[in-house]
Amino acid sequence: MTTARKLVLFDIDGTLLKVEGVSRNVLIESLRKVYGTEGSAATHDFSGKMDGVIIREVMQQAGLSDSDIARGFDEAKQVYIEGFKANARREHVKLMAGIAELLEALSKRDDVVLSLLTGNFEQSGRHKLTLPEINHYFPFGAFADDAATRDELPPVAVARAEAQTGKRFEGKDVVIIGDTEHDVRCARVLNSRCIAVATGHRAADQLRSHNPDITLETLADTAAVIDFITA
Ligand SMILES: [Mg+2]
Repeated sequence: MTTARKLVLFDIDGTLLKVEGVSRNVLIESLRKVYGTEGSAATHDFSGKMDGVIIREVMQQAGLSDSDIARGFDEAKQVYIEGFKANARREHVKLMAGIAELLEALSKRDDVVLSLLTGNFEQSGRHKLTLPEINHYFPFGAFADDAATRDELPPVAVARAEAQTGKRFEGKDVVIIGDTEHDVRCARVLNSRCIAVATGHRAADQLRSHNPDITLETLADTAAVIDFITA
């Protein structure tokens, strides 16, 4: 049994890092190839959404039926993942302020377990983390492959943490860190605590209106973030 008291679940895009340009362009090409149309992919708001949900929403807006979308889905997912891995390079990835220091500090503590809760498909999400060399901090996580909606991911993450550590993390011992209202909302599923961080596409005031436990401009103050997590 682990000595850890807290399970920390990080979102990826806008929270740990940003990938400039590549994701949207690769998705547009993948949708054109598989469905014959990119739909609204050039302008759709992807923030905080599951990769699978994005594909379905964009193709619905292009007028495709649910059965047509379902028929092409696995291929579109694979074409996107392969395209992303082929095109995304280190120079496209920007780590958010303080992330390298925060992950290093958290990884040295035996009272905290690090994990992911993300709308990324696992293969493309892992590639995003591998480029700036932070993938090794996250031995497991909950991904878009695991569920249809983000709100279904906290129980998946908690079950994986229990399988890895032997401990069932509950309630306020789970801390979700993300940059959108979708991250804040999914933290309510298991009555977890939530840190909203304004390093993505939402301003701090917007995030505060969704009532996270705390809203931060960045995660750069390592000591303050760790104090909140371990409180
Ligand atoms: Mg995000």
